[in-house]
Amino acid sequence: MTVKPLAIFGGTFDPVHLGHLSVAWEASELLDAEVRLMPASVPPHRPPPSATASQRVAMLRAALQGQSRLTLDLRELVRSGPSYTIDTLLELRAEQGDRPLVLLIGADAFAGLYSWHRWLELFDVAHIGVLNRPGMSTELQVKLALQKAARHTDDAALLRSLPAGKIIDLAVTPLEISATRIRELLAAGRDPRYLLPGGLFDDPALLQPYRV
Ligand code: ATP
Repeated sequence: MTVKPLAIFGGTFDPVHLGHLSVAWEASELLDAEVRLMPASVPPHRPPPSATASQRVAMLRAALQGQSRLTLDLRELVRSGPSYTIDTLLELRAEQGDRPLVLLIGADAFAGLYSWHRWLELFDVAHIGVLNRPGMSTELQVKLALQKAARHTDDAALLRSLPAGKIIDLAVTPLEISATRIRELLAAGRDPRYLLPGGLFDDPALLQPYRV
């Protein structure tokens, strides 16, 4: 019996939106993988989130209700200091033995991968699944493009047979939704009901951090 890969989808989820959920869901289908959403506490590459960690977790919990394919992994929120992806993946590797690990990232985040802490070591520990995202140019920084050329595969079965080291493009349904846009809409007093999972509207307190 082959073991299902474990795929990690990290982000600030400030707030989680239907773009996140839809691409994570489709990635899980394409890779036949368990997918864990992993909210970051102190994202090394970005300004601090608008909502607190516990508010973001409350939104994620509300969003994930009613299904079991996508789960939540809160390890980066319990760790102190910045949550570098390499540290998280090394921790998962120690727990998971030779199980294939896949780091899922949107095409926008992948384009900046070369600036991540110890980025080349990521490939020793995990595969990378790149989720297409509308509006992204396909041009990559030179060192990253070389890594992609050397490691690229279209074969999900090959990826499932190896613990780490490949890059696969995952052709998920493009959805032009961003948390930035949702924060803008909420701050302007709008109601972005169908860009967000319905569970976020069950409790008015959940979206309060974004209303001004
Ligand atoms: P912000 O607008 O605040 O930058 P975001 O919508 O990009 O937020 P993040 O939590 O920063 O969301 O993203 C987490 C991960 O999800 C990243 O890898 C990002 O590329 C990916 N992602 C977010 N939205 C989409 C989308 N609509 N399609 C594909 N990938 C996405």
